[in-house]
Amino acid sequence: MLDQINQHIQPTQTRLVAVSKTKSNEQILEMYAAGQRIFGENRVQEVTDKFESLPKDIEWHFIGHLQTNKVKYIAPFISLIHSVDSLKVLKEINKQAKRNGRVIDGLLQFHIAAEESKYGLNLNQAKELLESTAYFNMENVRLIGVMGMATFTDDQQQVRREFQQLKNIFTQLKIDYFGGADYFKEISMGMSGDYLIAVEEGSTLVRIGSLLFGKR
Ligand SMILES: *Cc1c(COP(=O)(O)O)cnc(C)c1O
Repeated sequence: MLDQINQHIQPTQTRLVAVSKTKSNEQILEMYAAGQRIFGENRVQEVTDKFESLPKDIEWHFIGHLQTNKVKYIAPFISLIHSVDSLKVLKEINKQAKRNGRVIDGLLQFHIAAEESKYGLNLNQAKELLESTAYFNMENVRLIGVMGMATFTDDQQQVRREFQQLKNIFTQLKIDYFGGADYFKEISMGMSGDYLIAVEEGSTLVRIGSLLFGKR
């Protein structure tokens, strides 16, 4: 399955985040042996344990809602936080990154699905964050793109429209707030059920769990 997914995403240079939440170290090592190096987790305790026991050239991505009081545990090693959904958590990421002498990369998470969700920004909230003095003064975080989850539905047109919406948000922010900078380049969208559509709509990072590892 890893080979199959890679064949689908490689022509567009989309990268695969293997979502290994609830999966054992053995299962991760199997994927590692097959060449996979980026793994995604959504629990702080779990990703911290896995970081400690698994090979150090693994890039760990955090993809779940991040509580402010837990940022300190992942700040020493996390490669990318996909789920920046408030100024508050970004401030804490900046603070903990500084303590660790690092600059931590993050993505702004947007709420693009029709379903209710507690997490994810809308465009106005993102603009407010990006225009804040607090953000202006942050030296230890770097926002490098956006992330979103489409509605869980069989309606492929709806899913496609939501991915297009996220791509449009990305393009607008890149111009208006990042001066077109090359480093602002990631669009994290697409999961097991919809990654092919996401790739067609410009995803640069697909986050795939069950299709890769089997059902959780
Ligand atoms: C679990 C999870 C995924 C992977 O979902 P699958 O349907 O198993 O591929 C992707 N993104 C986020 C944010 C997740 O929590």
